[in-house]
Amino acid sequence: MSDQVMYTLEPDEQPKRWYNIVADLPVPPPPPLHPGTHEPVGPDDLAPLFPPDLIAQEVTTERYVDIPEPVLDVYRQYRPSPLYRARRWEEKLGTSARIYFKYEGVSPAGSHKVNTAVPQVYYNKINGINRLTTETGAGQWGTALSYASSLFGVECEVWQVGASFDTKPQRRTLIEVFGGKVHRSPSRLTESGKAFAEDHPGSLGIAISEAVEVAAQDPEAKYALGSVLNHVLLHQTVIGEEALLQLAKAGESGADLVVGCAGGGSNFAGLAFPFLREKLAGSQDPRILAVEPSSCPTLTRGEYRYDFGDTAGLTPLMKMHTLGHDFVPSPIHAGGLRYHGMAPLVSHAVNEGYIDAVALHQNECFEAAVEFARTQGIVPAPESSHALAQVRREALAAAETGAEPVIVVGLSGHGLLELGAYASFLGGNLEDDPLSDEALSEALANVPVI
Ligand SMILES: *Cc1c(COP(=O)(O)O)cnc(C)c1O
Repeated sequence: MSDQVMYTLEPDEQPKRWYNIVADLPVPPPPPLHPGTHEPVGPDDLAPLFPPDLIAQEVTTERYVDIPEPVLDVYRQYRPSPLYRARRWEEKLGTSARIYFKYEGVSPAGSHKVNTAVPQVYYNKINGINRLTTETGAGQWGTALSYASSLFGVECEVWQVGASFDTKPQRRTLIEVFGGKVHRSPSRLTESGKAFAEDHPGSLGIAISEAVEVAAQDPEAKYALGSVLNHVLLHQTVIGEEALLQLAKAGESGADLVVGCAGGGSNFAGLAFPFLREKLAGSQDPRILAVEPSSCPTLTRGEYRYDFGDTAGLTPLMKMHTLGHDFVPSPIHAGGLRYHGMAPLVSHAVNEGYIDAVALHQNECFEAAVEFARTQGIVPAPESSHALAQVRREALAAAETGAEPVIVVGLSGHGLLELGAYASFLGGNLEDDPLSDEALSEALANVPVI
């Protein structure tokens, strides 16, 4: 094994296609349903919200989709993202596990979200769209979409969840630096927003309703979603395709464990689905593990059934693990993990038994994140810290048994704009706030019966 710790790729090795897991799943995923008729939605139903090229990707069963040259050109600025061997963290943990982390914090917005923001804006632009609306939670998606919009000369309007608008003014500024326009959600600009008090802390579900409502009413505008949908997961597979090639360069014949944090499921799927392809083909046999917060335990305690993607019930019904579309999670610091649902493709893969899930409390996550920062020099996003905390558990278990698993973990972004969360943790002021059974059944009571 080489002494190298960072693995990259030559320009001619760079992946030029995205991978579509739908082509390889033995059981096809259940289709999204029209909210009125409960019939499977067709491309026409999605046309008010998305441009034709993205609708085609949403429903495609082709195994690979070529990445357009203008998108590759932007990717080249920050891709391949590095794969590192976390040797000093391994040493600190005293583990015999070999830990590799794939670091998406090198993108212009500091997270994996740029990987899909760029193609989404590109396809809208070539389909004649010049105005995009979207939501953002912690601010990562709004930042990525507003950067991509500025590259292709598209107007970008962002509904930011009230709680993070109020507590994270720097995120709003960063979106504005990249040229986006920010509204606090719930806003007074939409019927969905006006259903709530002006000082309501908001939620991703409400912000999605607002952005969808505005796009649906403006024939010149479309809507962009930062996670959950098939085409978003497709774009993120560039992460896992690179990681497979980089792992081979590290002299590994495959992974034994692949771990990522899951909010809507996009960074996790982006890393995991190319590994799942290898697993289904029998060439590797990794355990694949999604990690979520105990206060928003969609995969581990939600129900697998049809529900809306937003609070107002404007989106198609998707079969997914859900906590209920009007569920408002407690204000944990990993804003990007506070979503009531899960990508239907991730939910399906969990339901089929290909992927496992676990839920962790935020104090344990920050503890792992601080240990990681002190050994590897990178401050993880609070979302990513969930994946690291699970890796820490696995690495400590390996230390007990002397096993030598190869662990690949997704580090979805850096936390340099989330230092307030670190200050709370270091000051001993972070609460673990598990979801009570009462709150869970209350939220699930409003899921439509299909
Ligand atoms: C948005 C975000 C997440 C959660 O979204 P997924 O779609 O589940 O990936 C995770 N990590 C970071 C850094 C994010 O910005």
